[in-house]
Amino acid sequence: MKNKGLLVVISGPAGAGKGTVVSELVKDDNVVVSVSATTRQPRGQEKDGVEYHFLSREKFREMIDHDGFLEYAEYCGNYYGSPKKQALDNMAQGKDVILEIEVQGCEKIKKQNPDCISIFIMPPSMEVLEHRLRKRATDSEESILNRLARAKEEIRLAANYDYIIVNGPIEQCVEDVKSVLNAEKLKASKFDVNTVLK
Ligand code: 5GP
Repeated sequence: MKNKGLLVVISGPAGAGKGTVVSELVKDDNVVVSVSATTRQPRGQEKDGVEYHFLSREKFREMIDHDGFLEYAEYCGNYYGSPKKQALDNMAQGKDVILEIEVQGCEKIKKQNPDCISIFIMPPSMEVLEHRLRKRATDSEESILNRLARAKEEIRLAANYDYIIVNGPIEQCVEDVKSVLNAEKLKASKFDVNTVLK
């Protein structure tokens, strides 16, 4: 039987570069990113079913009632959740599933799925983070200060993750994440000795 894929949680403050890391990882056909559901409004060019499944609060509630999420959390007044079926189906097919979610969601996933791997993408310093957030130039001063304050809270919780990977040069960060995933697959607990003995 094919080995089950990994369940990988990736978190980190806005501006740490999670999105760029994930978009590099999914270039591998064996890695998929989970498309979350959210009750927030689409931003800019975002399309339903691509960045998120955009749901009304009623629909989101319905999915909670039908046990449709691996986890869900409220963040800045909106709900965000990771659909269960798609993630489990992909893992059963041997694909690694990435959940790009915030810290509360990670805690819930860890409780229910102790085998999951959690990775925190850390900015090299608060100065670099601030510089990256300001470079986007899409946010107001208030929103930048808000995100920086929130980033500090998230960074304080980073020690709860299995791995912390500093995002200095992006190529190095992506290599480090890939090394973690490779090492996880080589764990003795993942090896079925019967495949050799038969
Ligand atoms: P944004 O609104 O900026 O796209 O996302 C806000 C935060 O929600 C980000 O930290 C993002 O990683 C997190 N997020 C996205 N999808 C989910 C999800 O399904 N569950 C949880 N817990 N957080 C999510």
